[in-house]
Order: sequence, then structure tokens, then C-alpha cells
Amino acid sequence: MLKVAHSTKGVFMRKKLIAGNWKMNGLKADAKALAGAIFSKATPDMPFDMLVCPPMNVLGFVAEIPHDNVFIGAQDVAETIKPSGAFTGDVSAAMVKDLGASWTLVGHSERRQYHHETNEIVKQKALNAINTGLTVVICIGETLAEREAGQAVDVVRRQTRECVPAEATTENCVIAYEPVWAIGTGKVPTTADVAEIHAAVRNELAKVLGQEKADSIRILYGGSVKPENAKELLNVDNVDGALIGGASLKADSFFAIAEAVK
Ligand code: PEP
Repeated sequence: MLKVAHSTKGVFMRKKLIAGNWKMNGLKADAKALAGAIFSKATPDMPFDMLVCPPMNVLGFVAEIPHDNVFIGAQDVAETIKPSGAFTGDVSAAMVKDLGASWTLVGHSERRQYHHETNEIVKQKALNAINTGLTVVICIGETLAEREAGQAVDVVRRQTRECVPAEATTENCVIAYEPVWAIGTGKVPTTADVAEIHAAVRNELAKVLGQEKADSIRILYGGSVKPENAKELLNVDNVDGALIGGASLKADSFFAIAEAVK
């Protein structure tokens, strides 16, 4: 089995990660059909890691379906460090793990937008996940207004600095760059813009975690990834996989994107 990352003559080879965010989609019957289709297509010799993040209502149900070659993650965990207590509506990292998930997303732009999550909250959630033994995907990305104001690089640098805990390692942390204006819109940045941001994130990771971790932590691109644009996006320097929303809701399009990893 390939390690997450290894270095050959100083050049880091990072295993790509194809991750699906189902968002608030899926009653039990839909989840069973989608997870079944994905799990039966996934094989141990895939040259990438695969992750699916179902909504909380079906997380435990999906995790109980045999899924040897696919990781299962939540879409969020609670901010409190307590594994249980008086936090109505919240689900702790410990509870997510107990449901059978080994990963979680945190800081998705929809959480930042609709639930007013700050970088400070995202960092605490990331730390809770890591301290519970989950691998965390920390989502960052600029808004359209920030891009148009020429602030995209500064924004993602600040998000990286303020959201990534010192405890992050190559094994327990992945970054997902998702420009807010590209999520669910069909718009994607140019490959030059993606390359610029991913290089800036890696550079900022080096300041937070040191060069070795920065070189080996995976940085995904997310935002309107489709089978038609996957090859181009996945071949950009420092793009170590994709976080996929809409196109992850069909096994065929999810795997067509993954096929772009060669
Ligand atoms: C997402 O929700 O993380 C996402 C990238 O969505 P979409 O692929 O639909 O743009």
C-alpha cells in the first residue's frame, strides 16, 4: 500500500485524494444506492485514496456497509472539546468516530456562510478531530468580492495560518482550497490561479508546520470539479486531489473524475 507521501530525490510524491461531499443530500434509500455503487467500484489497487462524506443522518448507516477501499467522513464536528454534554444539535468528533467515520471536513464555506464559522472556530474543530483520531480536511477559499479586490492570496494565507493547528501532520490533515464563487456554480478558476493559490498555501503551511510537513500535506482543489475539467485541474502543480460536491452524487461522475488520476 502506498504511503500518503514519499520523497524521491527531494521531490515529494503525494498520493492523490478524491473526496466526495454529499452535503445535505440523501435519505437512507438514496445513500444505500450511492454508497453501494461507489463501494463496489472501488478497488484496493486504485492509485488514489477515496473519501465520501455523507450527511449525519446516514453517516452510521453508510459506515456499516462494507467499504474496504473507501474512507468515510463526516461533514463537520462540534466546536466544543467535550465529547458529550449540553450542546443541543451538535455532534462531537467522538460521536462521529463512534458512528464508524475516520475522517471529517471542517470549515466548508457553507458552514462559514450560513453558520458564521470563523477561522478560530474552524481551528478548534480541526483540533477536536485530530485529538479524537480523525483525519481532518480543512476547507479554505476566498469569496468573489475578495478575489475581485485582488485579495485571494492574502485571504487563503490567513485562513491557512489561522485554521491549521500545530498538531496537524501529513497523516491527520488535508487542506481543501475551494474558492467560494466556484462552489456549485459551474465556474472554475484558471489553472494559473489554482497554481498560484496552492503554492501560497504550501508556502504558508511551511511557516506554520515546517517545510517537511508542508511538502507532504495534501492540498485538494474543490469547486465545480466535473469529469470534463478534472484532468486539467488534477494536473496543476501542488493539486493533490479534488473535493467534489454535485458530481459526487453519482457514482459514474465521481469515478469519471477519479479516472483522471493516472
Ligand atoms: C463542495 O461542496 O465542496 C463543492 C466543491 O461543491 P461542487 O463540486 O458542487 O462545486
